[in-house]
Amino acid sequence: MKSSYDVIVVGAGPSGSVAARRCAEGGLSVLLIEKRQEIGAPVRCAEAIGQDITRPYIDINPKWIDARIESYAVHNLEGEHVILPPTEPTLIVNRKVFDWELANLAARAGVDVVTRTQAEGLIKDDSGRVIGVRLISLGKRHEVLAKIVIAADGSESQVARWAGLKTVPPMSDYYVGFQYLMVGLGGKLKPTICEYHLGHSQAPHGYIWVFPKGEDCANVGIVIGADVADKATAQEYLDRFCDKHYPHASILGVVAGGIPITGALKHMVTDGVMAVGDAAHQADPLTAGGINLGMIGAEMAAEVAVKAIRTGDWSTRVLREYEHHWNHRFKRQHSALYQLRKMINRMSDDKISALVHTVSTLPIAEMSLGEVLIAVFRHHPLMLIQAQALIATGLILK
Ligand SMILES: Cc1cc2nc3c(=O)[nH]c(=O)nc-3n(C[C@H](O)[C@H](O)[C@H](O)COP(=O)(O)OP(=O)(O)OC[C@H]3O[C@@H](n4cnc5c(N)ncnc54)[C@H](O)[C@@H]3O)c2cc1C
Repeated sequence: MKSSYDVIVVGAGPSGSVAARRCAEGGLSVLLIEKRQEIGAPVRCAEAIGQDITRPYIDINPKWIDARIESYAVHNLEGEHVILPPTEPTLIVNRKVFDWELANLAARAGVDVVTRTQAEGLIKDDSGRVIGVRLISLGKRHEVLAKIVIAADGSESQVARWAGLKTVPPMSDYYVGFQYLMVGLGGKLKPTICEYHLGHSQAPHGYIWVFPKGEDCANVGIVIGADVADKATAQEYLDRFCDKHYPHASILGVVAGGIPITGALKHMVTDGVMAVGDAAHQADPLTAGGINLGMIGAEMAAEVAVKAIRTGDWSTRVLREYEHHWNHRFKRQHSALYQLRKMINRMSDDKISALVHTVSTLPIAEMSLGEVLIAVFRHHPLMLIQAQALIATGLILK
């Protein structure tokens, strides 16, 4: 570790490793720090990613693939389900190996990667501008200077907060997550299908998932809205589901974590600081999937960081280009997904069940999305009113 770098990236999750690598590939000197002693562990994820969207960042390699998904099954409380094709090939990965590989690629691109090294604060100059990071590495305190600090320290990002970015989401836009890695699910597990289970009585303002991880093994998890988590905990809701569906399964691992689902922060940069991935709330505001989106955000941030440092100006004004790129690509789509989640939250369980039932009777493999929606509105005309906000985004009829 040197005493100064062009860029310090805090957090070696997928977003941090991609940001660090792209900065190094752009000719910058880069330090990537990770507070955990081992990159990738412990895993806090259901491990589903899109294959094609991942390809620019890492060669698709069987050593980190646990399952290849051919379809999604969306279930209602009555056990009826709709089978949907994935929008792109989906993989269930082993995040421990996946994250490790991404950090390895960063190291090979010239990034100094150090683990068991935690950011404790930001160094600021007299004008309040961030000029480095105070950190503790293997028990020793250091001050390391940088032109730009990239906050890739996940959903509880402190770096973004220290820099003055507004990162605290409202309770209604925060998922509380809990997951078991289970084995012994019996014949119930379909090794190429990701299951989603809807219904507020089993997962209020959220959903339950069963993502296969090979033979007889799956990530079985739940997210619930933090604003409705007062009646029971996410774990209690998940236990009820598992007792009902997998009474004889064993639990090999437990994961708990929260995910902001606001859509990306309005401001993701300030003088000398850029936030990426979960630290910038870039996860999907409906499903909370954030691995791919974080990597894309990290790449966008790195491109702007490289340009800013080359031109000698990394002020907020210049770094805002990153926010413009993000908003141009995702703002409309994510505001539609946000509205869709709010709409589902307002629906009763009976309505959700009826919708799943309606779609399960349609030959959706032969229909466009528009035709499916028209059929749904014909069966459930009141939904047209509920969907107004969503239609206003313009994306629903595309
Ligand atoms: C239960 C659950 C299930 C999920 N399932 C999926 C899924 O199936 N698919 C999907 O796409 N997404 C999923 N997500 C979301 C996904 O895990 C995140 O969006 C993704 O990990 C974001 O990557 P990141 O690099 O931004 O942050 P992280 O992966 O959280 O990485 C942040 C890193 O920063 C480190 N760090 C934090 N503070 C410091 C510090 N002060 N100093 C140094 N290092 C620090 C942390 O140790 C961590 O390694 C799930 C999340 C949860 C909680």
